[in-house]
Amino acid sequence: MSEEFRVWFNGELRESKACTVHVRSHALHYGSSVFEGIRGYETPVGTMLFRLTDHLKRLFWSASVYRIPIVYSLDEMRAACREVFRDSGMKRGYLRPLVMRGDCGIGVIPADFDAVDVAILALEMGQYLGEDCHSEGIDACITSWNRMAPNTMPVGVKAGGNYLSSQLIGMEARDRGFHEGIALGTDGLLSEGTGENVFVVRGKQVLTPPVSSAILNGITRDSVITLARGMGLEVLEQTISREQLYASDEVFFTGTAVEVTPVRRIDHMVIGNGGRGSVTAKIQTAFFGLFDGSTTDQWGWLEPL
Ligand code: PMP
Repeated sequence: MSEEFRVWFNGELRESKACTVHVRSHALHYGSSVFEGIRGYETPVGTMLFRLTDHLKRLFWSASVYRIPIVYSLDEMRAACREVFRDSGMKRGYLRPLVMRGDCGIGVIPADFDAVDVAILALEMGQYLGEDCHSEGIDACITSWNRMAPNTMPVGVKAGGNYLSSQLIGMEARDRGFHEGIALGTDGLLSEGTGENVFVVRGKQVLTPPVSSAILNGITRDSVITLARGMGLEVLEQTISREQLYASDEVFFTGTAVEVTPVRRIDHMVIGNGGRGSVTAKIQTAFFGLFDGSTTDQWGWLEPL
């Protein structure tokens, strides 16, 4: 991982090797960073950043929960995202805005709340769970690790520290030979994947756990709920048991990285027809249609570069 690229760092574009943070940075010791992941898509009318503003609003909200001040405004962050993406020369790719508590002493309670570093990286990203994952689907397992209990760490906040839980879930799944891990909450009900929300199809109904089920309130999740309702499907946000998951007609993941990815087996049990189900396929067509122009963007989700 030695390749050099340019990063927007504390207000300007710099070579990645020149983007240094202090070894005493609070974020390194205590996981006190917040971040986002945003895809840029190549469309017939140029590159579009998908729901850039909604992602940045979530970033500011995450930062506010942890009382991490961002000295840049939403408009400045939006302009910075565009600047670094344009500078990368990519037509499609992934943006990673990252806000870190900086060098503010070794105490857990920050001695200086204003010590904050902000970086925005523009990176390449293909199909996150493998080349054929959108058509073939992936194999997942329920891991022995649960998501965080309510009122322990805020799961709905996209903070660096939360991804310690995701690492344990993901590493256990890979060790056991699965592409991805799904966690239950401490109540034993379905929560989410390491970096994905989960949807279940049962007949004509599409179900997904509510935000109270220890999940990140995904922006792709929201997009898919909107698109599915728009095509006449009934979408319910309700708690889902493990057995409902196994015995469903279809299961799919949503997320910025995975986009809409079918899950064909869970714990070696075949879901539905063992491939991409028809409802998942329809939702994929509507979602990816946003980027080739076949789905009209009625919501202003596509934000020009
Ligand atoms: N859950 C977790 C834990 C995630 O990291 C992500 C990816 N950001 C998601 C769900 C999906 O969220 P989004 O659709 O906003 O990318």
